[in-house]
Amino acid sequence: MNRGRQRTLKRKAGLEGVGMHTGETCRLEMRPAPAGSGYVFVREDLAARPRIPARLENVTATVRGTNVGLDNVQIHTVEHVLSALRGLGVDNAEIGVWGPEPPITDGSSLPFAEAIRKAGTVEQDAARDPLELDAPVDFEINNALYRAEPSERFELEVVYEHDSTLIGTQTYKAAVDPATYLADIAPARTFGFEYEIEQLRAHGLAKGGSLENAIVIKNDETVANPDGLRFEDEFVRHKALDLLGDLALLGRPLGNVRVRALRGGHQGNTAFAKKLIA
Ligand code: ZN
Repeated sequence: MNRGRQRTLKRKAGLEGVGMHTGETCRLEMRPAPAGSGYVFVREDLAARPRIPARLENVTATVRGTNVGLDNVQIHTVEHVLSALRGLGVDNAEIGVWGPEPPITDGSSLPFAEAIRKAGTVEQDAARDPLELDAPVDFEINNALYRAEPSERFELEVVYEHDSTLIGTQTYKAAVDPATYLADIAPARTFGFEYEIEQLRAHGLAKGGSLENAIVIKNDETVANPDGLRFEDEFVRHKALDLLGDLALLGRPLGNVRVRALRGGHQGNTAFAKKLIA
C-alpha cells in the first residue's frame, strides 16, 4: 500500500451530516490535489477559504479527537476522514469543510471510505516517500506504550484495555492494505459511555452525538444500539482506525513498519508520530 507512485482522487467525493460537537449539519468534499501536497483542509464556510495542512505541526488539541488549526482557524476531529484517505492509499487530497468539523457520519470512517472508492483514485507523476526504520523506536507517554519497528510490510498491532467488562482487553493485529482497511477497520465506530455522554452534554459538547453515530455503552455494561456491535472487537478496531488517522499527519506513509500501540489515544498517537519524524 505504501510504495510505488503517489495517488489522488479521480474526481471529487462529497458527503453531508451532523458535526459531533456542534450538532449542526455540515458538508465535506474530498478533491484531487497535486502530487506532494498531502492532505489540506479548506474552511469553505469562511470568506477567505483558509487552508490548513493536516500535518503534525498544525495539531492544536488532542482531547476526544485530533484538531488542526492555523492562524486561529480550526478543524476539529480530523482523524476519521484522514484515516480513510490513508487507509485507501490516497496520498494527496484537498478536503473542503463547510464548518469547524467534518460530519461524524455513522461514527466510523466507512462513509468516507465508500465515497473515496466511488470516486476512484489515480496514480500521479511522483514516487511515494514512505518512512522506513533501521531500528525500533520506543515511546512511552502517560500510561501508553508505543513501538515502531522494521517489518516485512506495513502492520498494526493495537491493544486496548478498559475497566468496562464489555471491552476488557482487546487486541487487533493486521497487515493493512486498502482491502483490509475497507473490510476490517473502516466500519468500526467510535464509542462512548452513557455516564460520559451525560457529562459532555452538560458542558455543551457532543450535541450531535446519538446512537446513529456512536456505540453507546450503558451503565449496565450492555450496548444501547439496537443493532449491537459490528465486530466483537469493534472498540480496538476503532482505536486502530484512529491511530491510522493520527499517523496520516506525518505527511507521508509508513513503509515496511510494524506499529504497536498499547493503551494509546490521540495525544499519544500524535506525540509518537512526532517522535517518529524526529
Ligand atoms: Zn475515532
